Amino acid sequence: MIRKIIISLFCVFILISSHAHGKLKVVSSFSILGDVVKTVGGDFIDHKSIVGPNEDTHVYNPTPNDGRLISKADLIIINGLMFETWFKRMIDATGYKKDVAVASKNIEPHKMMAPYFGGKPVPDPHVWSNVRHVMTWVKNIREALIRNDPQHKKNYENNATLYLKELKELDIWIRQQFKTIPKKKCKVITAHDAFNYFEKAYGVTFLSPQGLSTTDEPSAAEMVKLIIQIKKENIKTIFVENISNTHLIKQLASETGAKIGGVLYSDALSPKGEPGESYIKMMRHNVETIAQSLSCFKLNTPKKEK
Ligand SMILES: [Zn+2]
Repeated sequence: MIRKIIISLFCVFILISSHAHGKLKVVSSFSILGDVVKTVGGDFIDHKSIVGPNEDTHVYNPTPNDGRLISKADLIIINGLMFETWFKRMIDATGYKKDVAVASKNIEPHKMMAPYFGGKPVPDPHVWSNVRHVMTWVKNIREALIRNDPQHKKNYENNATLYLKELKELDIWIRQQFKTIPKKKCKVITAHDAFNYFEKAYGVTFLSPQGLSTTDEPSAAEMVKLIIQIKKENIKTIFVENISNTHLIKQLASETGAKIGGVLYSDALSPKGEPGESYIKMMRHNVETIAQSLSCFKLNTPKKEK
């Protein structure tokens, strides 16, 4: 009898201790945010992202698997600012009641007109194209992890401090790359409007046929306006994005004679082994690709009439 009680107590102890030492289950909404969450959480969290590399969060359709993932999560982290339009539906469907942290809390968004929200001004969700906003993400993620797993407070604080230092260096490096380029003369064409915060922070102007979402299709008149602008301003290079349909960019290239200057990572990381496999690598790749493009520099030295 005593032996049975000891064995039962031992089993209860194992169950309690395995739960206590189990990793915090964290789910983030998309791959870029997921990389930042993983870096702050380190080995102390069990992490999964819903929308994966090269996938488009704007048009994502959650699967039953995502529902199961959410049901088991201790903490969910989203960007917010109306980026994850499918998220509320999913939370309602799964009945998830635990913590949802908004990484973009305390970031002052700029507003833009968005046809997919009835033409009303909405916050631009693409805050991660400014490294300083990702530093705010890191602070919010750190607080959310500590709130849900206070026993690893020191670890999350240390990871966040190291990462903030790297991000600060990245921000300084980007500013140096574009320091000598006259702000109004460096123009970059991408398919959708994902780089407004980059433009404001680093002084490179982005033009795009689509609006804030990849679901926005430009009208014929808007395409003609952009084609005229590309020709008039002698923009020679336009870029495709890793997440978006390339048909608009190909159409612009064939109508204007501009060449396609490479891939920019806008709303998702690349798969592992490719240049945008982490947030820091994707930003470096984007900056190098833009800085090496002829369109930035040709405009700096307009041809003189002989
Ligand atoms: Zn986007």
